[in-house]
Amino acid sequence: MADAAAVSAAAHAGLDAPQTIVVIGGGQAAGWVVKTLRKEGFAGRLVMIADEIHLPYERPPLSKAVLAGEADIDTVRLVKPDDFTALNVEAWQPDCATSIDRDARIVRTQSGREVHYDRLVIATGGAARKLPASIVTTAHVAYLRTLDEAVALGERLRKSERVLVIGGGWIGLEVAATARKLGVAATVVEGAPRVCARSVPPAISSFLLNLHQTNGVDVRLNAALVSLDDHPTDANRVRATLADGTTLDADFAVAGIGLTPHTSLAEAAGVAVADGIVVDHFGATEDPRIFACGDVANHPSAWLKRRVRLESWANAQNQAIVTAKALLGTFEPYAEIPWFWSDQYDVNLQILGDIPTDAELAVRGDLSAKRATLFHVENGTIRGVIAINSARDLKIARKWMNQGRAVDLATLTDASTALA
Ligand SMILES: Cc1cc2nc3c(=O)[nH]c(=O)nc-3n(C[C@H](O)[C@H](O)[C@H](O)COP(=O)(O)OP(=O)(O)OC[C@H]3O[C@@H](n4cnc5c(N)ncnc54)[C@H](O)[C@@H]3O)c2cc1C
Repeated sequence: MADAAAVSAAAHAGLDAPQTIVVIGGGQAAGWVVKTLRKEGFAGRLVMIADEIHLPYERPPLSKAVLAGEADIDTVRLVKPDDFTALNVEAWQPDCATSIDRDARIVRTQSGREVHYDRLVIATGGAARKLPASIVTTAHVAYLRTLDEAVALGERLRKSERVLVIGGGWIGLEVAATARKLGVAATVVEGAPRVCARSVPPAISSFLLNLHQTNGVDVRLNAALVSLDDHPTDANRVRATLADGTTLDADFAVAGIGLTPHTSLAEAAGVAVADGIVVDHFGATEDPRIFACGDVANHPSAWLKRRVRLESWANAQNQAIVTAKALLGTFEPYAEIPWFWSDQYDVNLQILGDIPTDAELAVRGDLSAKRATLFHVENGTIRGVIAINSARDLKIARKWMNQGRAVDLATLTDASTALA
């Protein structure tokens, strides 16, 4: 890693100190870039081009408290408006960056403005993946990525009796849990044989399935959606048809089927893209003046020992901080252990580190009592943890993982003795 810092520092060594830094995107990563730049003493021109009307905010509450009507823009802001003003950022909002001219070092926007940059950060996140147009004929299908979408979806949920959730991943399951909290019936349609199949082993999928079924959700697994149409006798409702001919009716549908990273700007400018914008440990692309971070960036993960594009709150914040420092010439490698959480009903589930979907997990506690910590141990050290209502265990495990501390399975799995 020290070598990587030296290589990256050398690549940037010939460049003048930046006078103008432009950030494309106005989400959590962009917000942390501008905050950190000012904290680190950058006194030059700072332009943030963002296509949403809101100043940077955090998205995790969108599928939880915002959807339930318990939080709004003031609760989810990353920076209070006064503090943002104090950062002295030219926020071009709402405006959309439409091209990057790397030779002239100019970003152009939809509204016809342009700005010359010394360094550029692409923090464009992604958009909710859309269902194929070939199977959708109804307009009663919603997606959830932005605050405005969450507010509209919450209002619609509260007027509904049944919602159809397409996709049994994290967003879909959180929407179903919030629907149930609001007293709305929910059906989840998942094409795979288990929920969250791409991120957790089968035991956790079973736990989540049981959690939702106990809370009254109708979960359909191995369910291939072949069409989503207006209901034949009530055009204000929807009907889903599955491959086996089953039909499911609801007031409306929400699709949570993944994220498409916003990479087209970078791609059109010739910046390397491979499941996200390709960056190094410092958020730098091959162009020494262009950086990327957050959901849109594909980076080498020191912990996972492979390249990865993470979609998580912690990554959006911490990778952005590392990137901002590198923009100013301080190269501190991004080496955080990947961390993600989800809240559903009375369950807080956190995932830390490397959890292969076929991992054999050592169990501490009792999954059926909704309080357990599951460890993926390799060569006597913890590689990954899943904590179910056991944030304290996760905190200790994180420390041990960072220390590379040797552990024994008997201690880990003995829930009668606190981890210390
Ligand atoms: C509903 C929901 C719930 C979540 N829950 C959790 C959770 O519980 N735990 C967790 O760890 N993570 C969660 N996440 C993930 C986390 O919120 C994201 O990883 C994080 O928001 C990524 O931040 P970002 O800044 O990289 O991207 P984004 O937040 O997507 O921000 C990018 C911004 O750039 C804008 N933009 C894109 N292209 C342009 C352009 N050309 N010009 C101008 N602006 C542009 C976009 O519109 C957007 O506003 C959740 C995400 C969602 C959507």
